[in-house]
Amino acid sequence: MADGNALQNVSADIQSPLLDSELAMNILNSMEQGVLVWSADERCIMHNDRVFAVMEIGRDELYPGRRRRNFLKAAVARGELSQERVDQVEAHFASGAPFEFDRTLPSGRVVATNARPLPDGGHVVTFTDVSQSRRAAADLAEAKQRAETAETQALNALQETQARQEEATLLAELDEWLQCCKSLEELFEIVVTFISKLLPGSIGELYLYSNSRDVLDGVCDWGTSGLHDHIAPDSCWALRRGRHYRYDMQRIAFSCHHVKEQAGGSDARDYLCIPIVAHGDTVGLLHVRFDQAADRKSMNDAQHFAVQCGEHISLAIANVRLRDELHDQSTRDPLTGLYNRRYFLEALRTELAMAQRKDSTFALLSFDADRFKAFNDNHGHDAGDMVLRAIAECMYDKFGEGQVPCRFGGEEFTVLLPGATLSEATQAGEALRAAVEDIQVRYGSGALPRVTISVGVAAFPDHGPLPQDLLSAADEALYRSKDDGRNCVTVATSRHA
Ligand code: GH3
Ligand code: MG
Ligand code: MG
Repeated sequence: MADGNALQNVSADIQSPLLDSELAMNILNSMEQGVLVWSADERCIMHNDRVFAVMEIGRDELYPGRRRRNFLKAAVARGELSQERVDQVEAHFASGAPFEFDRTLPSGRVVATNARPLPDGGHVVTFTDVSQSRRAAADLAEAKQRAETAETQALNALQETQARQEEATLLAELDEWLQCCKSLEELFEIVVTFISKLLPGSIGELYLYSNSRDVLDGVCDWGTSGLHDHIAPDSCWALRRGRHYRYDMQRIAFSCHHVKEQAGGSDARDYLCIPIVAHGDTVGLLHVRFDQAADRKSMNDAQHFAVQCGEHISLAIANVRLRDELHDQSTRDPLTGLYNRRYFLEALRTELAMAQRKDSTFALLSFDADRFKAFNDNHGHDAGDMVLRAIAECMYDKFGEGQVPCRFGGEEFTVLLPGATLSEATQAGEALRAAVEDIQVRYGSGALPRVTISVGVAAFPDHGPLPQDLLSAADEALYRSKDDGRNCVTVATSRHA
């Protein structure tokens, strides 16, 4: 091929005045794009010089008269187009509609092919090197994708942080309430209220070991759960394995016996058993069954949260128990479990203040075991202790809510009877005396001899306005019972008598 500025590649039979012009060819050759024209009978009519550089082909690949089919076949051979793509391209040419597509050359450059039909049934095709813009677009798309991913991650992290903060706030709130608990009953109420709010859709139960530690007692539940009265420690995998146990229906897992018995197999759900461990001791079990409709992530979050709740509840139970124990130690007598002298004097002072304020009455009994020294001497101190415990049992039987039965010291006892008149207290003293007289304590192979008590009765306001007045009056009456031959009840003499 000779001069690129001349109209050298155009078949003589299709030359037109415009194409003939040197100017027109100069314009075509100065274009960025490669240009070629196919005739209606699918032969190359003309092309510009730029087409070789853009398409990275030699002059033997494209020349006037070159059949389009062969030109495309060569592109398949170079690996630029698939046969399938060529079939599509031919179908497009046949359709007479404009079309475009991208091809990647073996060098990696991307060339956009743009074909437009000519009125005579031929086509003009331009080839544009779009490598840079496509790369820029790809880079832009990738950057956009990266930005979107980063945004999603940041959003997820934020949501995660917010969720954790919310959990921490709720747990702190739970803690605050748990720390105010005065009794286990209050604690159970708080646990039920909080857990049904904190783990929506969940149902569950709380069990605590009985004193004998052979079973766990059901203490509270939430949702429509069937609380067992008792469950055996070995009916739970968590208690047997010493750590929380997660039953996941999508994995190999074995259901705990206490759950099988409960659900009867009809209400299968994922669940979690969390041992309640306080100061290193397992004291109970928190069992939580989850809403099956929840997605896996929220299920995992809920289970993680449930374990945290379990830890907080464990600590609270330990605290309440410790407080109860300390309170008991400071207010109860260890041998009989009755209130001790300290507690009694406090209760007496409180009762006195209230009776003065309300202008009401109350009474107290003071009694002492008869000839107990001799009893100990004859049967031993252990037998004496058993009798003291039996007397305490008798007091628990006779005196109920609000009344304060107390071991004042040694074999001396007192009872505070709020609201009682002198005559009601005397009757109560008499009933107690008769009940003690009837006590039979088995000891070894036989029974111990019966023990009697001598009782003194005093009341407010009859016997004075001060605790000491009342105690002295009751004691004085007690001594008169002793003087009168023991095993009897004596009312204190009135202060004004
Ligand atoms: P009285 O009828 O006059 O009350 O005679 P008594 O022998 O009971 O007289 P006293 O009150 O002097 O003796 C009390 C005895 O109670 C002395 C002690 O051996 C016994 N005692 C005090 N505390 C306990 C205890 O915790 N266990 C036992 N087994 N005996 C106790
Ligand atoms: Mg005594
Ligand atoms: Mg005595």
